[in-house]
Amino acid sequence: MANVPMIKLNNGVEIPAVGFGVFQIENGGTKQAVLDAIDAGYRLIDTAQMYGNEAEVGEAIKASAVAREELFVTTKVWISSTGYDATMKAFDASLAKLQLDYLDMYLIHQPYGDVYGSWRAMEDLKKAGKVRAIGISNFKADRFVDLDIHNEVTPQLNQIEINPWNQQKDEMDWLNKEGIQPEAWAPFAEGKHHLFTNETLVTIAQTHNKGVGQVVLRWLYQRGVVSLAKSVHKSRMVENINIFDFKLSDAEMVQIANLDMKESAFFDHRDPKMVASLGGRQN
Ligand code: NAP
Repeated sequence: MANVPMIKLNNGVEIPAVGFGVFQIENGGTKQAVLDAIDAGYRLIDTAQMYGNEAEVGEAIKASAVAREELFVTTKVWISSTGYDATMKAFDASLAKLQLDYLDMYLIHQPYGDVYGSWRAMEDLKKAGKVRAIGISNFKADRFVDLDIHNEVTPQLNQIEINPWNQQKDEMDWLNKEGIQPEAWAPFAEGKHHLFTNETLVTIAQTHNKGVGQVVLRWLYQRGVVSLAKSVHKSRMVENINIFDFKLSDAEMVQIANLDMKESAFFDHRDPKMVASLGGRQN
């Protein structure tokens, strides 16, 4: 089983360098997927209020033989629950569904709504010992610098889309400057732009006798990024966590850097139509 290195966050808490995400797993499939992931060696499990599968994640954690303190469980507060009181309520509901008495990481899922109220609730949850680390997701540099300078606690982590098509170099520079850990969602861009058959990635993979997924996750690791890959196939879970027995050369890192399209493979978080749609407005 892969020995996953730990990365130290700005408050001293350590997070596994590679984790498992449960977004878009078919209804009823999350419990088995999480059990398989834990068996494959994953200790970081990433869910969200919005994914609707926290209860299944909780069932898997309960059924697993791995001790609670060995796991690193992340969930996120959705836009509809932003604000101080609503976040406190959402946190309790998430914790109950997960059948846990503390969380390892709690994130603001999107940079919309009353994120200041949410952040202050999260600072209080941290002080109360109910969560070990707090962070944000999908915040661009202007938003997280603003949040940081007007509040007590600097976010420990920002979970953003990072993959070979959207490498987020400028955002990473700001995150590193602020001491906020970058974490990659959709590290494979969900396979968009034919990621798994890309010639550059396939050639590098063949050089190391590895798969394309392993090359992408290794590239993220060498950039200091925590990655969250999702798969419902145990063989792929095992493959995706086994990235610590090879190293990409500087030249290979440059070849991958050259694949950057500098735009999201999904959507722009600054597109007003998306802000309205994610915020629940119908038109
Ligand atoms: P992803 O991990 O980039 O891609 C998942 C897709 O890749 C699935 O279709 C999976 O198929 C396939 N796959 C996985 N490993 C593979 C391999 N070795 N070879 C070939 N195909 C492989 O995308 P994601 O699920 O969107 O993102 C990962 C996690 O990030 C999520 O689960 C979630 O926890 C988090 N996330 C967060 C946000 C946010 O706004 N904060 C947004 C999106 C995602 P199978 O399942 O069929 O194997």
